Amino acid sequence: MSFASLGLCPALQEAAALRGYDHPTEIQLRAIPAVLRGEDVLAQARTGSGKTAAFVLPLLQQLLATHRDGPRRLRGLVVVPTRELAMQVAETLHDLSHGLAVRVKTVAAYGGVSINPQMMALRGEADFVVATPGRLLDLVQHNALRLSGLQVLVLDEADRLFDLGFADELQRLLALLPSGRQNLFFSATFAPPVQALAEALLRQPVRLQVADAPETVQPAIVQRAIVVDAPRRTQLLRTLIEQGTADGSSRQVLVFAASRYATELVADKLRRAGIDAGALHGELSQGARTQALAAFKSGALRVLVATDVVARGIHVPRLPLVVNFDLPRSVTDYTHRIGRTGRAGLAGTAISFVPPEAEAHFRLIEKRQQMRLPREVVPGFEPGPVAEPPAAPAADPHGGVKGRRKSKKDKLREAAARGG
Ligand code: AMP
Repeated sequence: MSFASLGLCPALQEAAALRGYDHPTEIQLRAIPAVLRGEDVLAQARTGSGKTAAFVLPLLQQLLATHRDGPRRLRGLVVVPTRELAMQVAETLHDLSHGLAVRVKTVAAYGGVSINPQMMALRGEADFVVATPGRLLDLVQHNALRLSGLQVLVLDEADRLFDLGFADELQRLLALLPSGRQNLFFSATFAPPVQALAEALLRQPVRLQVADAPETVQPAIVQRAIVVDAPRRTQLLRTLIEQGTADGSSRQVLVFAASRYATELVADKLRRAGIDAGALHGELSQGARTQALAAFKSGALRVLVATDVVARGIHVPRLPLVVNFDLPRSVTDYTHRIGRTGRAGLAGTAISFVPPEAEAHFRLIEKRQQMRLPREVVPGFEPGPVAEPPAAPAADPHGGVKGRRKSKKDKLREAAARGG
């Protein structure tokens, strides 16, 4: 199957080819014709499936088909949970509309930065607005954006919108939208509130489920689990990064940690070991986040240590390795994290560090993923005997980094126990 056979015009076929899309992914195969027909769509698809282009390509085609000279009108509103995803979707819109006969104007709007440049950008209207819910409502309140003429609403990563507490904002937003519009609803998971919103919003939608299809992200990803004591994880990470340099297998690494504190601590330790590393978390200023992400995407930054909130939606071309320094809390987060690598059919590896105290938690993740990974031990990083119930802080089930450091005495005792 080709993009041409889906009914996409030659200009958009070429735009897709220029981006390196040779064939449509499964979600594109199924969503593009439905969107072109003007139908509502309910799609279960995770990041990495090619879902963004699955709505961007047909929305651009609709715009080309109905374009009239005269003032711009808001054709599509894409509501997303995070700034990073807003930037990424806007980038896809820019890239795929580049070189089209009509100049397409896309504005990305998100909180955490001054509203003024976004208000300026919206002067003279836009064809597409990609926005997080809170900022979107602010812009409407400032009369910077009129939603009354909206033709297509896209909710992207709807489950995450709920996870991040945007339920009220979504309700307020939906009340402002005109009826008779087309609605596209994308979500990786469908918990009851997500399902209820989909039912309230969509009219006889075409239902697509591709999350677990073999073509999606999973099979391209090799998943590994390494058993290691929590305090030795940074050292192990360093070793893996150095090995990757030596054998050329993993130039770049995206590392997930549980908290702002952990991302900074790990990045700092790596930097002190001479490895080019940066931290990315929600408490950085928007400028610092954009900068870190841009440096990582361009390859200037070798290792990015991030929390889940900001990592959702990050797309780095050809990212070979993802490391779960701290295990994710939920299976959904696990899926999203590992989906950062192995994208669009390229091979990738996802390694989870499993300290003994996090074993039960990792088993739960495995069970929900219907997999069982062999536990690997890296020579030199064999886990020590399980410590006596310590006077140390309680173990973090997610393998938090605040674990007790081993004293010299502890290490000697362990070495003796191993016969070393
Ligand atoms: P998404 O699921 O939208 O985040 O897309 C995942 C990645 O797949 C992005 O890097 C896209 O640029 C890429 N992609 C989307 N569609 C295709 C395609 N048909 N062929 C190859 N890569 C694609």
